[in-house]
Amino acid sequence: MAIYDLKCDKCGKQFEKYVTGFLKDDDKECPECGSREISQQFTSFFGVGSSGGSGGCSAPPGGSFG
Ligand SMILES: [Zn+2]
Repeated sequence: MAIYDLKCDKCGKQFEKYVTGFLKDDDKECPECGSREISQQFTSFFGVGSSGGSGGCSAPPGGSFG
């Protein structure tokens, strides 16, 4: 599962596309004007713990500094 942030080069419409695999060329279509001139902005993948500050930091109980 991934979210592709797309932007239409024609009308400037920004939209997101939810796909389960890779983004196909067929998915790059503006919902606003139907243009195929789409720029890919960003991709967010789900199910993969790559980025994102999830809790669970192991802080040292006693900071002995010095
Ligand atoms: Zn458009």
